[in-house]
Amino acid sequence: MLSKSKFILGQQCHKSLWLSTKGFEPTNPMDESSKDRLRAGDQVGDVAKELFPHGREIEYLGSDFQKMCDLTSNAIDAGETTLYEASFIEKGVFIRVDIMNKTSKGWDIYEIKSSTRLISYHKEDASLQWHILQSVKGLKLNDAFVVTLNNSYLRDGDINPAKLFTKHLLTDYVESNLHEIEKQLEDIKLVSISNNEPEVSIGAQCKKPHSCDYLDRCWPKSTKENNSVFNLYKLNLDKKLDFYNQGITSFEQIKPDTKLSLTQQNQIKANEIKKPIINKSKIQTFIDSVEYPISYFDFETFTDAVPLFDGQRPHMQMPFQYSLHIQKDAKSNIDSDKEHFEFIASIKEDPRRAIAESMLQNIPKSGSIMAYNQSFEKNCIKSLADHCPDISEDLLALNDRFIDLIDPFRSGGYYHHEFKGSFSIKKVLPAVCPNDKKLDYKNLDINNGLMASSAYKKMRGLSEDQRISMRKKLFAYCWLDTYAMYAIYIKLLEIVKT
Ligand code: SF4
Repeated sequence: MLSKSKFILGQQCHKSLWLSTKGFEPTNPMDESSKDRLRAGDQVGDVAKELFPHGREIEYLGSDFQKMCDLTSNAIDAGETTLYEASFIEKGVFIRVDIMNKTSKGWDIYEIKSSTRLISYHKEDASLQWHILQSVKGLKLNDAFVVTLNNSYLRDGDINPAKLFTKHLLTDYVESNLHEIEKQLEDIKLVSISNNEPEVSIGAQCKKPHSCDYLDRCWPKSTKENNSVFNLYKLNLDKKLDFYNQGITSFEQIKPDTKLSLTQQNQIKANEIKKPIINKSKIQTFIDSVEYPISYFDFETFTDAVPLFDGQRPHMQMPFQYSLHIQKDAKSNIDSDKEHFEFIASIKEDPRRAIAESMLQNIPKSGSIMAYNQSFEKNCIKSLADHCPDISEDLLALNDRFIDLIDPFRSGGYYHHEFKGSFSIKKVLPAVCPNDKKLDYKNLDINNGLMASSAYKKMRGLSEDQRISMRKKLFAYCWLDTYAMYAIYIKLLEIVKT
């Protein structure tokens, strides 16, 4: 029996479908943030039921597909006009429809998505549902919709489902897609019962619409090497695949007349000589823009698909934590006990006012505020200012003082072959400041922003003791983000002096 999710998987890649159907362990299983997205999907699905309240829910009964279908057909026979998770088996495919609502013209079907925009695979999803439902005897269909979140919805009191969601009418699309779906379904069914692993080359389908669970099984190990064309700075996936398909897998194989950006040229050269490419004057330009005291500053944020607080939009970045290291002057080293401030908001309330007030209290009134990729921090501050109009002027004034530590790297001041085509702090720090345990993200339980966001949201369901332990881990992570900036900046100062 094929499910809708297997069909969607098969549309992305026959091999991935085959591996999954045959029970091969994923080599790249879902991480915490992907699981978070799934949980968000369930939550959005529950709220969407309020679009058509008082419907009949068809219970999920695991592998007892026929029972779920029987319950659905009994509910329809009993005159129910709104069904949640209505279940059907036709053409060897089992589907559950998020919402079905009966109108005078027939049943409308609704597929609920937790994203804020309509994506092409959503349309394929609706097309399959439509295709299968067409075969259900006695079921008259009217319209097909995909329902997404409306990202301009600002919560104000109780959630208003009619405003939280946007309905996309797709009847014409799913009708026009019937023949194509039928064809794909036949192919996918054959793949799923075949004993032979399909031969599929790596390609764009490995990353879109979802990153495949079997990447490490199919992608050659060499694609992770420093000199792989897959690590070329800012080269889009199609161009990387073009190289790969021409047999060009490493920098050494790139033809001399190939057009490359300055950063890509630096990357190739640094890799060849195994030494950093340094342009002191570009680093010096950055250093000259710095004013003491320096506030090394970093936010952590979370997002909720369904806003929890008034003034929150779906998937809006909500700052809940910051770390701040202060370096008084060029001669001072930072003492983390005395010159470090940190804050994590209570999970019981909207974090924005508390974090905004704490920042204003602790960030020095003058000097540069140094961030790594400043646009994120500055956008967070803008949204805090919108939320706290009485202190917005002070908050927005902070944005005028930001400088970005990524600039000397992006502008070509320093390239190390270990960057692997990325200027993220997680790549830059170990290359610029190697062999320092204090500066190693790998030693932390929480070691990236998505994990931090997940951990904070997880605290909502934890006991007080568990929350204390989680807060410690979050503090340790954010502390390193700002101390890392200090360590990198000191290194840049050393480089221009030598
Ligand atoms: S990694 Fe790519 S080729 Fe391999 S199974 Fe996944 S999508 Fe298919």
